[in-house]
Amino acid sequence: MKCSYCEKESIIFIRRTGKHYCEDHFNQFLLGRVKKYLGKHRIKNKRIMVAVSGGKDSTVMLHVLWQLSEKYNLEIIPFYLDLGIKEYSKPCGKSVREISEMLDLDLIEVSLLDFAGFTIDDVAKKEKKPCRVCGVVKRYIMNRIAFENNFDFVATGHTMIDEAAFAIHNLYSGNIDQFFRTYEITRTEKKRKLVGRIKPLYYLMETETLTYALINRISYCDLECPYAEGHPIQKQKEILLEGEYKFPGFIYNILRSLNKIRKKVPLESSVQVRFCKICGYPTTGDVCNFCKVKMKYSKR
Ligand code: SF4
Ligand code: ZN
Ligand code: ZN
Repeated sequence: MKCSYCEKESIIFIRRTGKHYCEDHFNQFLLGRVKKYLGKHRIKNKRIMVAVSGGKDSTVMLHVLWQLSEKYNLEIIPFYLDLGIKEYSKPCGKSVREISEMLDLDLIEVSLLDFAGFTIDDVAKKEKKPCRVCGVVKRYIMNRIAFENNFDFVATGHTMIDEAAFAIHNLYSGNIDQFFRTYEITRTEKKRKLVGRIKPLYYLMETETLTYALINRISYCDLECPYAEGHPIQKQKEILLEGEYKFPGFIYNILRSLNKIRKKVPLESSVQVRFCKICGYPTTGDVCNFCKVKMKYSKR
């Protein structure tokens, strides 16, 4: 089969665009989707901390942002958090170091054990699923490191299906506050010590990031976190992929409609700004979730 744009052989057919792509035109397509995101949110002349787990999506995100950094005048610094998960964190960290070196970027590396005195494996010994605690520590540490190092944004490697699955999961579970808080971008609020989040892969599917990694020979860690199995988000993804197969564009349309719903509801700007009495970072109560988790699990 030929590429829809030139005479070269096609390497991928994308159902939702109805087009065949050769390697060059696929790279243009993928970069185009990230440019669409950066353009829509006017992300230019910024200093961005790129959270890289070592997996396919975040590694591809780092590579793409690095490619676009000159055009958009972006200062790109990769960030890796070692969660201390046996047989997973070490190879992932190695991949992040390799790609950072290959792109000649300085890497910020933080170990959860050094930072908080415990690992996710320690949490897993006490809790059936450590994912809730893992989410708390990741959000907190990323924000704190980005704030202390004066970054404009933290970039994460969430793709279209991650976002749609997360939104559907929140609707299904009745986490309405969380549903309304999650959007394609959050703005930086220095007064509240909050660094905004961007998701440059927001208009891309995982099959597309995989294709980009393969044709550009980007090595990444293809291990899955041992605690991911059976997570409800995986089930939501399976349902969404079935829908996408039957109705190309299904996931994008769902996401677009969910975003329309969000826009109809005003954001709660009235939420009182409070700071944790232990660490001084934002919280809704007296003590933030991170400090609570640290008190419970820290071995120090
Ligand atoms: Fe953390 Fe692993 Fe759970 Fe992901 S699957 S939240 S990395 S423990
Ligand atoms: Zn082509
Ligand atoms: Zn705190």
